[in-house]
Amino acid sequence: MNKIAQIFETLEYGPAPEAADQAIAWLDHHNRTFGHFIDGEWTAPGTTFTTENPATGEKLADLTEGTPADIDFAVNAARAGFGPWSALSGYERGKYLYAIARAIQKHAQLFSVLETLDNGKPIRESRDIDIPLVARHFYHHAGWAQHLHREFPEHVPYGVCGQIIPWNFPLLMLAWKIAPALAAGNTVILKSAEFTSLTALLFAEICQRVGLPKGVVNIVTGQGETGQAIVAHPGIDKIAFTGSTEVGKAIRMATAGTGKGLSLELGGKSPYIVFEDADIDSAIEGLVDAIWLNQGQVCCAGSRLLVQESIEERFVTKLEKRMETLRVGDPLDKSVDIGAMVAPVQVERIRELMARGAAEGAVIYEPDNMTLPDAGCFLKPALVTNVSPANTLVAEEIFGPVLVAMSFRTPEEAVALANNTKYGLAATIWSENINLALDIAPKIKAGVVWINGTNNFDAAVGFGGYKESGFGREGGREGMSAYLKPKWEKDLQAAPPPRSVTPGDVLGSGHLDQTAKLYIGGKQARPDSGYNRPVFDNTGFEIGEVGDGNRKDIRNAVEAARAALGWSTTSAHSRAQILYFLAENLDYRRNEFAARIKAQTGEDGADEVALAVERLFAFAGWADKYDGAVHNPPLRAIAAAMVEPLGVLGIVAPPSRPLLGSIALLAPALAMGNTVVLVPSAQSPLSITDLYQVIETSDVPSGVVNIVTGSSAILAKTLAEHDGVDGLWFAGDAQTSAMVEKASAGNLKQTWTSRGLYYDLADRRFEGDYFLGKATQIKNVWIPYGA
Ligand code: NDP
Repeated sequence: MNKIAQIFETLEYGPAPEAADQAIAWLDHHNRTFGHFIDGEWTAPGTTFTTENPATGEKLADLTEGTPADIDFAVNAARAGFGPWSALSGYERGKYLYAIARAIQKHAQLFSVLETLDNGKPIRESRDIDIPLVARHFYHHAGWAQHLHREFPEHVPYGVCGQIIPWNFPLLMLAWKIAPALAAGNTVILKSAEFTSLTALLFAEICQRVGLPKGVVNIVTGQGETGQAIVAHPGIDKIAFTGSTEVGKAIRMATAGTGKGLSLELGGKSPYIVFEDADIDSAIEGLVDAIWLNQGQVCCAGSRLLVQESIEERFVTKLEKRMETLRVGDPLDKSVDIGAMVAPVQVERIRELMARGAAEGAVIYEPDNMTLPDAGCFLKPALVTNVSPANTLVAEEIFGPVLVAMSFRTPEEAVALANNTKYGLAATIWSENINLALDIAPKIKAGVVWINGTNNFDAAVGFGGYKESGFGREGGREGMSAYLKPKWEKDLQAAPPPRSVTPGDVLGSGHLDQTAKLYIGGKQARPDSGYNRPVFDNTGFEIGEVGDGNRKDIRNAVEAARAALGWSTTSAHSRAQILYFLAENLDYRRNEFAARIKAQTGEDGADEVALAVERLFAFAGWADKYDGAVHNPPLRAIAAAMVEPLGVLGIVAPPSRPLLGSIALLAPALAMGNTVVLVPSAQSPLSITDLYQVIETSDVPSGVVNIVTGSSAILAKTLAEHDGVDGLWFAGDAQTSAMVEKASAGNLKQTWTSRGLYYDLADRRFEGDYFLGKATQIKNVWIPYGA
């Protein structure tokens, strides 16, 4: 062996500690005790709790437990700050954001060391990933502030935003929340996580230093109860939350019916798919990053390895070897790969989950050549094999350095396994075959897909989940829109109560009996209940009967809609053709439909039919135009922001406008590739039951539109509780709207409700992106380039 080779063989790591003296001096300067940062000032410390260094167990500081009174104080400050802040020009707001970005860069080292002390993540990560991304986020949003009026005309900020963040990326999550909120003109109350508040408090000082107006940013420390007080406060207009799915669901329920805006970025169990033609060495390095970044405490961690069977053995052997070279230890050491878990309770939780998985048959490999530090919250990297999809370690989000491996034979099986989870945050695909990778990416139900790379993040690229990983996006255009709402929303008036009719005469003998059935899977079906509901005209005269749909009918309709999801991959051109054809066939029978509207409501229906035809035309036109974007993040990759449908959409139409009320909601949903279970106006359903024949003659595939007549409130509840429904729109009273939002928390379906307000669906503002945006979600597919 020559000398150089010998040196490489015997090379040992020496200690490479990062000095912590400046961070310690900053803590000491504050006497290691902090109040909240409200209205541009520090409050006196109240009841305190301690924050510790998880690598050593040493106490770092005492923090104040935020009380409802503190939240009240912060809301008042944020409300007072909102007027002047939102009145500033975008350029002025942008300058503040730019100043924050600059200040973060100037103090990057202090932020990095403090983050590592408080959270336990390796200094390499806080220095090279977290803090640079924080600065980038503020730079990016400085630009949004200035261009807002051009890019989001007729939009206004929400007002006061409550923001609740977790402990895994403390300053980065703060930046993801505060930068877009401020750019849009909102003011904020941010609660940092109990374990990791220090960089948020240092950030508060930065806000002071750049002269940010008082009340624009308020930072409150505390635990779960403090978060609850924010969620419950009536003076807050929007809640943005990142954390566990469990708490996300609780927040969905707590905000139901309040009209508060809500975005949720929740947990994940993201697949990491390696095909047999992958560059295996790169895929292994990617995997190290995917699962052991931040000790695996990452919502989008690639925690489920799915490797093609033909390379499984080779891949796992190499991976185990690579695991032996990972260095676990003092996070302030610059050559450490895996630092400390955030807190003892997290170590406990992971050990418990691992014990459960092992009891269920899992085989757990942990390198035996590494020793963990005597003190502190350390865990070895672990690889779990011999598991079925039902094993706890496969199904549950572990949030630790634990990788679960399974194999697959075919690409179809890989997709099925990847999607076999309640979550849908991210996915990684490794293959040297770009055709294969790009075929798989759209089939995975996740908000972010990385091809031949992993854990890429950028301020210009939206991040967020599908399914129970939450809704709303952070970053990019989608992230900005989450902090803005249409200007006209504030002018909405209460909807008039549905017309009340006193049932009078029953159908006369001169009428041909017409009892409309339900329409499910392309066929007319009798209601399961065996009951029908009478339909009256505005004088109380009975003019027909429709089926009284129930839970079972909705179940059948959802099943048919799920079976028809191929509609989402039908080309946009074909969907447009079918919508045009629907319009054409409806127009052909306009007199008959107008007469039916008149018969139900007493109003001349000609205009409504004309508007319905026009609306179908409008969304036929949108089908192939409302599409995505290609982002250029600052690395050798593009991110394709693809517009995808939600899936199965439940639509409960408003009581008024028997035809247009349904068509105005149905058309955008279909244009974007959703399949629909439609509940037409309970009072005047005949315009929609008449539509069956139009649908049948317009080439709409079976199951794409399913129609269940009956009580709006009862059917809305069933749709809200159904896990096979991905989104639900309800136009009707406030009480049922609140119920819909609450009952939808089960699988975190995305909802739109009219909350008892009058949305004039004839208005042309509903001819465009308002409902298109609600019918879709964005998937960002990262594709690297370069040889
Ligand atoms: P939580 O969801 O409990 O915490 C996230 C944030 O919400 C924290 O600031 C927390 O306060 C606050 N909070 C807790 N309860 C409520 C409530 N009822 N209303 C409002 N705010 C509340 O996550 P944990 O920190 O407890 O972690 C538990 C598990 O959640 C982890 O092991 C992991 O599996 C998952 N998780 C997922 C994250 C993700 O990004 N997807 C991030 C963090 C955790 P405080 O922590 O101060 O008590």
